[in-house]
Amino acid sequence: MLVIKSPAKINLFLKVLRRREDGYHDIVSVMCPIGLFDNITLSFDVPKITVQCPDPRVPEDSSNLAYKAADLFMKKCGVSDGVRITIDKVIPVAAGLGGGSSNAASVLMALNHQYNNLFTKESLMSMAREIGADVPFFIFQSPAKATGIGDRLTPLNGLPPFWFVLIYPGLEVSTVYVYENLKLTKSEINYKVPTLIRTFSDLKQLLHNDLEQVTLQKHPELEDIKRGLVESGAGGALMSGSGPTIFGIFDTLDKARAAYRSISTKGNWDLFLAEPLL
Ligand code: ATP
Repeated sequence: MLVIKSPAKINLFLKVLRRREDGYHDIVSVMCPIGLFDNITLSFDVPKITVQCPDPRVPEDSSNLAYKAADLFMKKCGVSDGVRITIDKVIPVAAGLGGGSSNAASVLMALNHQYNNLFTKESLMSMAREIGADVPFFIFQSPAKATGIGDRLTPLNGLPPFWFVLIYPGLEVSTVYVYENLKLTKSEINYKVPTLIRTFSDLKQLLHNDLEQVTLQKHPELEDIKRGLVESGAGGALMSGSGPTIFGIFDTLDKARAAYRSISTKGNWDLFLAEPLL
């Protein structure tokens, strides 16, 4: 049996450059893995691939991204072995935190470990690409600048220490809806993201997400949440991915703790205090 931790991510920066012929979008993003984890258990005493997840929003059939990962891995190995995947969800689902993609990457890496590291990290990254645009990032396992559809990654070293308070307001936001309703301008095409992020002030200036315009227009209450975070001491606040999770960044753990305590009295949200995995 293997027990693994599958981390969430946030986008500190996200610019959408253009819609591609294949329906995906080219983006430039700064992504950061964070210390908020799903727990996954793999057992190998079974004839088929199965997924168990008590969370009603997560499918247990072959559409589960963890199932897809196991299925692809076995096919690449040329075997039809089984594995029982049990997912204990902590990361909010469909929240812009990459939970499903992370689960897929964690399963690929755990299976590779179980099968004597048959594949290199590069091979696992290209398997990950077949599952979804965000999956390679979770194999990469470091803060990164992401280009292409989010799958071309360059490490981003030297980020300053910081802390987050994340608020998941429990709204349903469809990633497809957000991208379909995004208005793109031609001037975005040659955009360059700043890559020298050394101080907390650099980090504050970096915060930007093109997708906010769509999600915040549909759910204006997210503006209040952003404002609330800044009023509680955050250096800045932003939506992650296509939302609806909003995070605030703090330069000290004490400030993050104080904001967490004050916000927890104000709304019935899922609230998390987390650190980046630098
Ligand atoms: P995306 O932007 O790719 O939609 P997200 O981070 O906003 O990602 P996820 O938590 O990954 O959201 O869930 C997106 C969808 O994927 C959900 O509707 C969920 O039903 C489905 N899904 C499939 N497998 C999983 C999984 N292992 N964990 C969570 N969701 C999964």
